[in-house]
Amino acid sequence: MNKTLDNYLNKTLDDYYGVKVTVNKAYLKEVRCPFCFYGGYLYEFIIMLKNGKVGKKGKCPDCGQTMLLSTLTVDITPEDYGKFVYNYCRLPKGHKKFNWDKLKRRIWEAGISYRFWYGFNKAKREAHGLTE
Ligand SMILES: [Zn+2]
Repeated sequence: MNKTLDNYLNKTLDDYYGVKVTVNKAYLKEVRCPFCFYGGYLYEFIIMLKNGKVGKKGKCPDCGQTMLLSTLTVDITPEDYGKFVYNYCRLPKGHKKFNWDKLKRRIWEAGISYRFWYGFNKAKREAHGLTE
């Protein structure tokens, strides 16, 4: 990472937390919220605990949903993401956790809309006992 970007990110983190923080490079990974597909750095999702440590759970700065931080860093194909969303929707109140307007727009903008819905609909067919 070059020096300018490093300084910029340190400054951003200081502003974000209101205190001087040491950058853990692992938190500079770019991630997507599974519920609204907001894209940002992992540190934006961090919830600081009272003891000054980073919590296991994170919170999306855009839609406010919480999730395990470890979930955010999983590499997943658009098809598997669609499958995840479909299966999550089958959980009680699962459907309500998603911000559909943002999610649909963002997967479209990211160019993965077709692959996402392919995975989503495939999972749907499988759930209803229909195979190709
Ligand atoms: Zn979100």
